[in-house]
Amino acid sequence: MEKDVQNAASETVTAITNVRIFDGDQPIAARHIVMKGASILSVGGDIPAEATIIDGERATLLPGLIDAHVHTSIGGLRDALKFGVTTELEMNGDFTGRGREIQLKNVNDVADVRSAGTAITAPGGHPDELLPDDDEIPEFVLRELEKLSEEDREAMLAAYAHDHEEIPQVTTVEEAIKHVQNQMENGADYIKIMIEEGTVMGAPGLPVLSDEILRAAVEEAHACDKIVVAHVLTAHSSQTAIDLGVDGLAHLFIDRPEYTSDLVQAIVDSGAFVTPCLVLNSSIIGNPASQLAKDIRVNAKLSGDWIDILNSSFHTFPQGDMANSFRNVMDLHRAGVDILVGTDVAPVPVPNLGGLAHGASVHHELQLLVEAGFTPIEALQSATAKPARRFGLHDRGRIVEGARADLVLVDGDPTTNISDTLSIQAVWFKGVQQ
Ligand SMILES: [Zn+2]
Repeated sequence: MEKDVQNAASETVTAITNVRIFDGDQPIAARHIVMKGASILSVGGDIPAEATIIDGERATLLPGLIDAHVHTSIGGLRDALKFGVTTELEMNGDFTGRGREIQLKNVNDVADVRSAGTAITAPGGHPDELLPDDDEIPEFVLRELEKLSEEDREAMLAAYAHDHEEIPQVTTVEEAIKHVQNQMENGADYIKIMIEEGTVMGAPGLPVLSDEILRAAVEEAHACDKIVVAHVLTAHSSQTAIDLGVDGLAHLFIDRPEYTSDLVQAIVDSGAFVTPCLVLNSSIIGNPASQLAKDIRVNAKLSGDWIDILNSSFHTFPQGDMANSFRNVMDLHRAGVDILVGTDVAPVPVPNLGGLAHGASVHHELQLLVEAGFTPIEALQSATAKPARRFGLHDRGRIVEGARADLVLVDGDPTTNISDTLSIQAVWFKGVQQ
């Protein structure tokens, strides 16, 4: 019986008609799409007689959005999907292939996720300074656990225990190689390295692994055909990461020293992408995301805890200037570097990690990219086709025949007014309307 129901669902045919379509790269002439089961059957083709018709007049259809820098949880993935973010890319956490199997077994109302597993860092290095001191599970995590069903709670704790019993200390080249191999065994989708000496995190003097050890990790990941993404928040550490041969920077340098143009050229030459997380830089400088939190299109979808988080900020580098981040990201963009939308949101609402929330902050990042000087179309590319290509997720990020039916229908026209991405009418995840 259950199988029949599933088969019926997989054959469901839906057409969205009369709609403006942004296909991940550009607005296109076609005005309708047909989805069947989990995929897009056609774009601008025949509409089958049995199709359920959804009139998209005065609306725009976008590929499901991708957040290329998160730390997530079942609740985070659930919130993401409400905001049309159908894929989250975790940059240190528990959602490796193995983690997904344990945690998402019984869950189907969440965004898809990929993960680096546990990032490589020095003993006591970043992100240690952001976490509570003792080994106990902190109160804010327990509060989130309470909101989950018994089953989800056990799955989350099991994944946490599995990943944390195995965290090897990395202090040598051999241990770095072993660490990469452990992540691969857990089903990591890419590898993350940390280069953070702490100044902009309000913790100067954090230990950082030597270039020799980090280079060994990068080489091992590349030998396993995995891309490497680096945590770097300053121009200096960005240059180090590029010299080590990483494939992407998970942040945008927050400072703007005299050698910035050389650094930009080095990033161009390396072919690396940059995920600026302007929302994070803004928070680090001390700006809460209060406008976003007030927006009824955001407020109605988030818990009070997350709204409180949006209304606060990291505030660890108040001497910073957002204008520098805007100039830096525009220099990179104009020079041809692929810029990806990311947020660096935490898995659960952590009081000192303010200004960021799952799903909502992707829309905020789009707005900040436009404020920096991106056209709305360029900003939308950075949340759809570009991250899909850079992370090898070739089944998504675009509205083309055969792609996953991960779709967002929004009122208005975000290709001219970026704020319209928040006016969500409907979200489809693998063809199922949420
Ligand atoms: Zn992060």
